[in-house]
This record gives sequence, structure tokens and C-alpha cells, in this order.
Amino acid sequence: MAKPSSKSRSKAKPKSKRGGLLHRLQRIFNLVRFLAVLLLLLIVGRAAGYALPGLAHLTRRGRWFPAAGAHVALILGHAGSDTGAICTDPEGRPTVTEAAITRQVGELVAQRLRRAGADVELLEEYDPRLEGLRADLLLSLHADSCIDASGYKAARSQESRIPGVEDRLLACIDREYATVTGLPPHPNTVTHNMTLYHAFRRVDPETPAAILEMGFLGGDQELLTERPEVVAQGVAESILCFLNPEEPPAP
Ligand SMILES: [Zn+2]
Repeated sequence: MAKPSSKSRSKAKPKSKRGGLLHRLQRIFNLVRFLAVLLLLLIVGRAAGYALPGLAHLTRRGRWFPAAGAHVALILGHAGSDTGAICTDPEGRPTVTEAAITRQVGELVAQRLRRAGADVELLEEYDPRLEGLRADLLLSLHADSCIDASGYKAARSQESRIPGVEDRLLACIDREYATVTGLPPHPNTVTHNMTLYHAFRRVDPETPAAILEMGFLGGDQELLTERPEVVAQGVAESILCFLNPEEPPAP
């Protein structure tokens, strides 16, 4: 009686060993599958423009993710503070406000940059996060007054500690924003409000920063209000140009 039972035990042993191995392999396979689904969700979420953390560091900067690993901060001009410039109808009622435009364009820019792999922070005009902010780029989005003029303009701090870097950013805007939107530059109206812009003094001095007036609420109203995705593309392309210095803007 003892013999067959010991025989059957010796037979069962290798079987359970194999079963254990299979079980372990299955657990590893399940884990890999879980991680793959998680990664896929992150990529799909990022492609949809959601601010999902972490992925920027998993992807390499290149053709598919030209902003991978970059930390970009955008100020939605006048957000949380006031309306900025206003256009009014003959009865004096506001028809278009600068703040509405900077918010709409800024959110579209953020979606584009997140799809390109960047971590994007949207800030209000006097956002407390500006204090000592360290980022690969800070760009403040504004629009100009409701006069019958047309064109964009950008400026950096006149007290910049990194003028060469910031001038490269302005060159990228001059190349990409002008090309995508078709707007002419309007440099003669760059004011001290722009070169002494409050945020320039608040962020870390090593954070490249600029302010962009995306057009006039008056002469460029159709572009700014009816085609905000074109404006956003111009801003995003300017930022991608800056983040990829291996492609220097043509003089
Ligand atoms: Zn403004």
C-alpha cells in the first residue's frame, strides 16, 4: 500500500513544480498586461490633451514628442484679475474681452503642447506660482487694444540675465507665429508695460520668459475670435521651435 502512494507522490511532485512555474509566468504576464494598458491609457489621455503627470519623463524628445520632458508655463493674460482690453458695441456694451481670448487660446496651446509631450501649467495673471518659478519657458499671452490696427509683438525683460536665450525665443515667435497666423509684426508699439512686465521680475532669473501680444482686438478680431485654433497653433509652433534649438530659426 505504501509503495503506490509514494510512487504517486513522486509523480505529482514534478507536476506541481511545472504548475508553479506556469502560475508564476501567468502572474508576470498579467502584470505586463496591466502595465501595457496603463501606458496606453496615459498615451491616449496625453494625446487627447489631458494634463497627465509622468509621461513627459517616459518619452524622448523627437519627432513624435517634440516637447517631451519640457515644463512650459503659460500666463492667461488678465485671468483672475480683470478683463484687459475691451471692444464695445455702439451702446457701450462689451462685445469682446482680451481675457476671454487669452483663456481660449491658452487652453488650446496647452492641449497642443501636452500632445507633444510637455508638462504645461496654466497660470493666472498674478498667480502665486510665478514666485521663483523654474521652467523651460514662461510665455504670457495677451492681446492688444480694440483699435483698427493689425499685428503681433513679443518682448522679453529689458533687464534679462539670459538675453541670448530669450532673443532666440523672440526669433522663434517671429518665424513661427508670423508664418502660421499670417500676421505682420507690429514692433513699434512695444511698451514699457511689456519690457518691464511684472512676471519677469517674479520668476527665477534663469527661466526664459516673454510676453506675446497675439494681435489687436480691433483689426485682428476675426482671427482672434473666429479662428483661435490657428492662433494657438502659431503659439505652440513658436514654443516647439524654442524647445528644439537644433533647428535654429532662419535669420
Ligand atoms: Zn493684456
